[in-house]
Amino acid sequence: MSNTVKIHPALQDRLSSDVPPRLDDEGRPVRALLMYSGGLDSTLAGLLLRLQGIDVIAVNMFTGFCLTDHKRKMGHTRPDGTRYQNEAIVGAAGLEIPVEVVDVREGYLKVLTEPKYGWGSSVNPCIDCRIHMLGHAQRELMEEYGAHFLATGEVMGQRPMTQMKRQMKLIERDTGLERMVVRPLCQGLLWETIPEERGWVDRSQLMSIQGRGRKQQIALAEELGVLDYPQPAGGCCFLTDGNYGKRLKDTIEFKGGPAITFEDVLVLKLGRHFRLPQGNKLVVGRNEEENELLKAYWTLGCFLEVRGHKGPLCLYVGDRDSEDFALAQRITARYSDCPYDQEAPVQVLHQDEVQEEQMTLPLPFGDENAWKIQ
Ligand code: SF4
Repeated sequence: MSNTVKIHPALQDRLSSDVPPRLDDEGRPVRALLMYSGGLDSTLAGLLLRLQGIDVIAVNMFTGFCLTDHKRKMGHTRPDGTRYQNEAIVGAAGLEIPVEVVDVREGYLKVLTEPKYGWGSSVNPCIDCRIHMLGHAQRELMEEYGAHFLATGEVMGQRPMTQMKRQMKLIERDTGLERMVVRPLCQGLLWETIPEERGWVDRSQLMSIQGRGRKQQIALAEELGVLDYPQPAGGCCFLTDGNYGKRLKDTIEFKGGPAITFEDVLVLKLGRHFRLPQGNKLVVGRNEEENELLKAYWTLGCFLEVRGHKGPLCLYVGDRDSEDFALAQRITARYSDCPYDQEAPVQVLHQDEVQEEQMTLPLPFGDENAWKIQ
């Protein structure tokens, strides 16, 4: 298995020459805007539409919380040794369909911190998130791309929070997309959509897949001639992660929803987090990659680092006149390789510029756990 989509040459030929384009009443090619991740389900959804002669444009929504994207930035590799990539971009290339990565961060903070329909098992506001994404596509993209309807790779019952009939209906209602979303993998189990009613989509060529397993999708992939596709990377976004959830809840408690910035929530993806006794915050990088990525968050506070010793870059967020600041320096020294019973030179930096240096005794190992957010 690779980390991209590969289709059989026969399927490629079929798509490029055998399938006549489907036209609307005005003779325009019928076009679908496909919510595309690059994974198997949305790939199959795109293929099922293309095999009906429907023109497909893929859109991949960027919220800043994609796990694969984070792993790619950290330089991690997949279990098979290949590098993480933007799977939507490489997948769409494999399918030979255009793809657009769309930044939907605007307005997403409210979705995240005050979701109308609540969080899932962690801080994943899946229903609100889908409303945000589909709503964005409906308002900003459909007209721009001349799309007749939206399509998704959803499978009935695969995700209990969003892929059940009732939630699908609710999401369509709240986005003004009632009966305008085609779900080629499970449309046979759902209501008739307007695209089907108008003859843009042939319902008999759509599927009725349901459940959490992937057997039916794998069988369909084989039948259609999909030779390779990315394996699931283990969760799709940070917001379903329990540890991330604890950090976000802590941030909401200490900062309050409306005051929270994107930097506040993105930095929660990195390092160990400590809420110090007086309410200030320390983030400790866990490795070189995290130290490097932490540097981007210099607007949130100042950095602490031990001079002349291996150790983390730490980000202190809060009041430098409080006792927490001295404690943060002791924690910084504790995570460095300086001897535990000797004072270490802890530097305070604004971006790369050293502002001060303080000789500091490392905190005894384990004492920092009293303030760790975990
Ligand atoms: S898992 Fe993440 S990206 Fe997917 S719907 Fe839920 S919040 Fe949105």
